[in-house]
Amino acid sequence: MHSRSFYIKTFGCQMNERDSEIMAQLLSEHGYIETSDSDDSDLIILNTCSIRAKAEQKVMSLLGVIRKQKKKKPNLKICVAGCVAQQEGRQIIERMPHVDLVVGTQNIYQLAELLEHCDKDSVATSLDDRYDIPAFIPAMVDGSSERRPAAFKKFLTIMQGCNNYCTYCVVPYTRGREMSRKVTHILEEANVLVGAGVREITLLGQNVNSYGKTNTVSSSKPDYSFSDLLREVAAIPGLDRLRFTSSNPKDLSDELMRCFADVENLCPQFHLPVQSGSDRILTLMNRKYTRELYLDKVSALRSYSPDIAITTDMIIGFPGETEQDFEDTMSLLEDVRFHGSYSFKYSDRPGTRSAELEGKVDESVKAERLLRFQTRQNEICLEHNRNYVGKVLSVMVEKVEGTALVTRATTNHLVHIADGMRKYTPGETLLAKIVRAGHHSLSGEPG
Ligand code: SF4
Repeated sequence: MHSRSFYIKTFGCQMNERDSEIMAQLLSEHGYIETSDSDDSDLIILNTCSIRAKAEQKVMSLLGVIRKQKKKKPNLKICVAGCVAQQEGRQIIERMPHVDLVVGTQNIYQLAELLEHCDKDSVATSLDDRYDIPAFIPAMVDGSSERRPAAFKKFLTIMQGCNNYCTYCVVPYTRGREMSRKVTHILEEANVLVGAGVREITLLGQNVNSYGKTNTVSSSKPDYSFSDLLREVAAIPGLDRLRFTSSNPKDLSDELMRCFADVENLCPQFHLPVQSGSDRILTLMNRKYTRELYLDKVSALRSYSPDIAITTDMIIGFPGETEQDFEDTMSLLEDVRFHGSYSFKYSDRPGTRSAELEGKVDESVKAERLLRFQTRQNEICLEHNRNYVGKVLSVMVEKVEGTALVTRATTNHLVHIADGMRKYTPGETLLAKIVRAGHHSLSGEPG
């Protein structure tokens, strides 16, 4: 019997990327082989994102395309996973009868079994508040298929779900309530990764700052915190770099910020989503912090790590946003001078409270404001990057292209090195003297 092949298409955030790796491993352990060509596969999995309307539309149009493939190959299995699967559930099969299986965000660990028994219109999207993330050891630190070359850096999920219910966000409805993994499971996974040659780990969660706050993660320390976890993972011999994402500013503790002063391999970069500079809008978003508190956290962070690179997320055109609210966002950008930001036009998400709010901002106004914000952000990026010219940074090789190297600094800046002067492999670190600055990357030579 020929081995069945599978193809995974991942949309959205790092959490989805990590979930796709977990699904790939589980399928490989059940005799499937991964392929990078969907035409060549017996099973197509779309791991979906529903953070914005656009992301969801992309999935639905792709499912339309896949319908033609299934016409040619009737035994082809179609599976929809991720946040759209969780959000829409059975409706996906009603709209797209050629879909065989819908797997929710808490059901990925049962994927292989669900596929074995999947008859027409199987749906597995039970969001369970008592859901406990099972222990999961990466049996293959990649290099297992051409689609997953040997890895020098990895994401490691430490928790799932969120209890914050920001009014625009679907995550609490698609990933459920906050559930933190046991410390022992995380440390075991981290040790396996480092033992297998991984040099950089990024700890993942929707709001890592509240790790261990909603369920017991340590049998020996009831008030075990995220900073405790950071220090334990950082202490694993052989781990060069440690990062984490994402954080809600309201839970950013002094204890966590102090880690940036004394945990050597914790990279000096912090993604701290603010979403708006206007207190009125922050209240409508239910973000539970003020502009002033955010600025206090930023200056405290910079007191522990003066050269830390701070990035953020910004929503432009939230319902009710006035020109003055937007000016508050622009002035916050000036006050913090972010090293970078992910900024988007607001879009209604099904089931969220903000979708019911009055005062929807016109699309053209949103677009004009987004352009103003991104234009100024790009100028600030270049101003920051010019400060690195002449400096020598420690960089990690990410890609080798002939003699050229694509590397990344601890601040998360991309550093392009035209000629590495010798052969390097991904994961190796070297010193680079910065010779040129661009808006979104730096150029350097071996230092
Ligand atoms: S903290 Fe983040 S993930 Fe949680 S509800 Fe708010 S925006 Fe969504």
